[in-house]
Amino acid sequence: MPESYKTLIDGQWVETGRELPVLNKFTGEVAANVPLADAATARRAVEAAAHAFPDYRQVPAHRRAALLEAVADSLWQGAEALAEVITRETGKALKFSLNEVQRSSETFKFAAEEAKRIHGETIPLDASRFGDNRFGYYLREPVGVIGAITPFNFPLNLVAHKVAPALAAGNTVVLKPASATPLSALKLGELLMEAGLPRGVLNIVVGEGAVVGDAIVTHPDCRKITFTGSPDVGEQIIRKAGIKKVTLELGNNSATLIEPDADLDKAAERCVVSAFANAGQVCISLQRIYVHRDCAEAFTRIFVDKVKGLKVGDPLEPGCDVGPMIAPREVRRIDAWVREAVAQGAAVAVGGEARERVYMPTVLTGVTESMKVMCLEIFAPVVSIVSYENFDAALASVNASAFGLQAGIYTNDIRKAMQAVRTLDVGGVMINDTPTFRLDHFPYGGNKRSGLGREGVRFAIEDMTTIKMVVINQN
Ligand code: NAP
Repeated sequence: MPESYKTLIDGQWVETGRELPVLNKFTGEVAANVPLADAATARRAVEAAAHAFPDYRQVPAHRRAALLEAVADSLWQGAEALAEVITRETGKALKFSLNEVQRSSETFKFAAEEAKRIHGETIPLDASRFGDNRFGYYLREPVGVIGAITPFNFPLNLVAHKVAPALAAGNTVVLKPASATPLSALKLGELLMEAGLPRGVLNIVVGEGAVVGDAIVTHPDCRKITFTGSPDVGEQIIRKAGIKKVTLELGNNSATLIEPDADLDKAAERCVVSAFANAGQVCISLQRIYVHRDCAEAFTRIFVDKVKGLKVGDPLEPGCDVGPMIAPREVRRIDAWVREAVAQGAAVAVGGEARERVYMPTVLTGVTESMKVMCLEIFAPVVSIVSYENFDAALASVNASAFGLQAGIYTNDIRKAMQAVRTLDVGGVMINDTPTFRLDHFPYGGNKRSGLGREGVRFAIEDMTTIKMVVINQN
């Protein structure tokens, strides 16, 4: 029997008169029904958040911190049950769902800590010849109502990355989770209300992006939009938002370089997790591996052997590494891309096969830069290996991408590592690791089509606050 959820508007758990079925992504059965919002409901949610803002911004920092800390604790204690919810709604292997809940707990914990240190600074006005006898300082204030729109692939932690810093800074929020995966976001809403969040401070609306998302993005009372999702939708949002702050966390076709002096076994081990966790549906999933010619054969052999050892199938089964993709249409899309690459000359070293809702972990060789599997964001359990001779040219290939989120390099040569840091046009360089490494308090975000702004709790708070300058004339 599917579970029935309600949605959170103005402090009340309500129905909307219409229901959206949420599928178990492995079995295809209905796991739960959630209230489906329309544009009018979304506008009502924004109005509730606007109404709640004047009081919530006055809540002292220590109380906001205590509330966020309580949610961090509840997430940690309830991690196993929530992980199962994530696995059902996304198809993510249970061990990765558990990791996501634990990371979400840390995200809330970091937000609780940051809530206590949001401050401005004094400005030495007498540095200007026109500033004598004036005293100046600035404050950081909450922006107001924040519209938060999130994708399906980390349905809890990417919500946490928006809601926790927003609440830490004294903002109110309207959240629109992905339609495919709204369950863990609604569970998080329950934990926040149990922790004593005042009425209207967080509102959750589930519904079609082009309707409900659009109503949030274009609402004049929303002062900031924070979006994580695909570059095309990000581009539509920034065109429509008008004069609002906008943060965009978008896609990537992440690359790692492997130099001959690297520990190939360690590198291959990490590359396997980075390419195939969450069935490759991670914005920083490893998609392109550039390996120096001198170690390409050895690396490919070790890597392919490890891929063959992955446990694929039911994500709730203990030990599962790779579960289904988010929807059968995604399996069909990726199957077509791989077939097209093969028709253009690529070779399948392992995988290359669809099994119902699962796409088997796939390694391609013999690819070229213009194939879709290389130059577009693949967002699937498919990785390509390219051999190179010249380090500078390999760095140039990594940069010859429309995206720029994170990149990795395996080398023990500090000069090469630092050359990569200087040269790569990305938001983060991981040395002796893959682009997939992320901790929730470091600045995270992309260049080029990978986005605008940075998340990571402190950095999100900077974008969720506005500066007010104060000058005292003592003349
Ligand atoms: P998506 O299709 O862009 O959807 C993301 C969110 O936007 C969903 O809530 C969606 O609603 C909503 N939306 C769709 N159209 C909209 C519109 N016109 N106006 C406002 N909102 C709209 O992305 P996805 O398939 O869920 O996620 C995959 C993408 O996210 C990949 O490109 C991945 O790289 C990126 N991503 C980036 C990061 C990062 O931190 N950089 C992290 C994770 C994922 P519906 O669900 O109702 O369509």
